[in-house]
Amino acid sequence: MLAFGHLGLTAAAFKTCSKLNTHEFRTTNYIFVFLGALLPDLIDKPSEFLLNFIFYGKVSVSGRLLAHTLVFSLIIILAGCIIFYRSQDPNMLILGIGSLIHIQLDLMWLFPSTYLYPFLGLDLPIVLQRSKLFAEYSFFFSTGFMLILEALGIVILVKLIRSKV
Ligand SMILES: [Zn+2]
Repeated sequence: MLAFGHLGLTAAAFKTCSKLNTHEFRTTNYIFVFLGALLPDLIDKPSEFLLNFIFYGKVSVSGRLLAHTLVFSLIIILAGCIIFYRSQDPNMLILGIGSLIHIQLDLMWLFPSTYLYPFLGLDLPIVLQRSKLFAEYSFFFSTGFMLILEALGIVILVKLIRSKV
């Protein structure tokens, strides 16, 4: 999924939860929602680009390394729970949940060696085969489902901005 889909769908999830949830989450800081929604890509895309360039002399990027693992999001969520418990500050927790939503929207469970790293082995695939990536995503590309999600993300963002988030 691309940026608008991540931003819009994650913001919609938080907006929906904020209507249902406790007082602390009603004052959701959407800077952390948007940061969490993009955090795995913000970390992994430049990291993988550099690693591939340094070690393999290539610049191909799938953008899925450690920040796209389940354990990465769970560590941030755990840290967020501790901070929330101590200071009632939900921002780290929001960041972790946003990151967790990101890897679900990226369909990372289709790549278990990355998604469940290090539980299936310590060899994190530095280069995720682009052909495999597109084979897994072919359904979404062929049906236009990905484009629909991006358009939906833009519509949600416009609606949230108009309602002043
Ligand atoms: Zn991603």
